[in-house]
Amino acid sequence: MDTQPNMAIVIVGGGISGLSAAYYLEKEASQHNLPINITLVEETSRLGGKIATERQDGFIFEGGPESFVTRKPEAWELCQELGLADRLVGTTSSGKNYVLHNGRPAIVPSGPGSFFSTPLLSAGGKLRLLKEPFVKPRTAASDESLGSFLRRRLGDEMVENVVKPAIGSVYLGNVDEMSVQVSFGRFAEMEQKHGSVVKGMFALMKEKSAERKASGEPRPAKKPGFATLQNGLMELVEALADQIEAKILLDTAVTHLYHDETNGHPYALKLSNGRTLLADLVLLATPTFVMADLLEGLAETAVTDQLRDIPYNPVTTVSIAFNRAEIDDPFDGFGVVVPESETSQLLAIEGMSAKFPHRAPDNQFVLRAFVGGQTVPDLAELPEEALISLVRRELASIFNITAEPTQIHVQRWLPANPQPPVGHLAMVAHVERTLASNLPQLYLTGAGLRGQGIPDCIRQSRNLVTQIVTDLQTRPETLSA
Ligand SMILES: Cc1cc2nc3c(=O)[nH]c(=O)nc-3n(C[C@H](O)[C@H](O)[C@H](O)COP(=O)(O)OP(=O)(O)OC[C@H]3O[C@@H](n4cnc5c(N)ncnc54)[C@H](O)[C@@H]3O)c2cc1C
Repeated sequence: MDTQPNMAIVIVGGGISGLSAAYYLEKEASQHNLPINITLVEETSRLGGKIATERQDGFIFEGGPESFVTRKPEAWELCQELGLADRLVGTTSSGKNYVLHNGRPAIVPSGPGSFFSTPLLSAGGKLRLLKEPFVKPRTAASDESLGSFLRRRLGDEMVENVVKPAIGSVYLGNVDEMSVQVSFGRFAEMEQKHGSVVKGMFALMKEKSAERKASGEPRPAKKPGFATLQNGLMELVEALADQIEAKILLDTAVTHLYHDETNGHPYALKLSNGRTLLADLVLLATPTFVMADLLEGLAETAVTDQLRDIPYNPVTTVSIAFNRAEIDDPFDGFGVVVPESETSQLLAIEGMSAKFPHRAPDNQFVLRAFVGGQTVPDLAELPEEALISLVRRELASIFNITAEPTQIHVQRWLPANPQPPVGHLAMVAHVERTLASNLPQLYLTGAGLRGQGIPDCIRQSRNLVTQIVTDLQTRPETLSA
């Protein structure tokens, strides 16, 4: 094995999916004594993809993701593994979420008190919610839309007034079109296993407590619901870039991927700088429409069509800071989401400094507006001046904020997040099976496949690496290409 030439691996895309794939590949290869050389190719001038932190005058602006959920443990665990444990900052448990209701933020009920007093649900809507444990479960285990799942379990009112705007602002899409298995697969599993989401949650709590008792371990310290890093999420990207040995090519796009057996390597990748990379193994960690372009002519048309058909919607985020002293009543919630029934043209507003106070100097206060999404995609492309005017008009109307901003930070994502439709996971599995049988040692990972949150992306890359290592060990001849 030692005398074999190293296997040339090319990863396309330097977002969290590509970087974490490089990290886990190097780690696993070293543990299994597999000789590999990784080259990671990134089209833009920086690593991180959608993770885009700007540090400026004591502010930490996040243009893309701003924190990650800890219930899915992969991002939290990766931060610990990279030595970032003492850099993690959690949200406080007191954070409140709001829905815009008649032009004003109304609190999302989080306990019995707020549940009975919320104006977001009528008496009938509240009663319907309480019936969840008694609603008959669906017998089919096949995928359905998130909207259909939630309407069955919680009723239309809860979906229209609370869930739809919340999901619309996170996924930028429509609950009635997106797959429940990708977005809230855990809840669908609870219904299948326990007959109800509420019953499933109680069962899960009981299971965990029994496991803890049996193991004799003390109750672990409570994790915050969401976490970020002291210097912004780019810290995770920077730590990965520091710790991987892969050769990183920035400002370089892969423009063409093809078979070329003449050089003893199965794949060749044409780069935007005119050079060509030869590869024994290729891992595409780009948005799915880029995967489709790169696989054109190599994979079956059905496969490229399916990848290209995964919809993505555009969004622009506008972070805007004010002097605290000039605001009568600074919004202290984590966020306000906007239902379609409201006249506001924003998708959502996040309380960036309320959620994580270290993101702004003490005398400043930062909000972030989301503009665009599925319902008003064109707004994401408004010229900057018009966009900022729109956001300021909305902030004046919703929060009565008319002060001059001290900082404004605009980040456009055209397109932004994938909208996995019903049947998406079965389609992804089919694409992967087809690729595995026709194009060995060509793999896909990333937000467009099995979940788009940062923990989802890390989990997919970690699982994929386990599969790659198994494939390499069961086909050792591929190591001596
Ligand atoms: C506004 C916004 C807010 C979000 N908020 C959150 C949040 O709070 N929490 C959370 O968990 N998630 C959030 N997300 C989702 C999450 O950030 C993304 O799903 C995730 O970062 C995507 O990672 P990725 O590596 O799969 O893809 P990307 O980050 O898109 O990376 C793909 C990379 O491939 C590169 N590339 C493309 N084509 C080529 C090519 N031909 N050659 C070479 N390189 C190429 C791109 O330049 C890019 O760097 C948010 C997303 C957005 C847009």
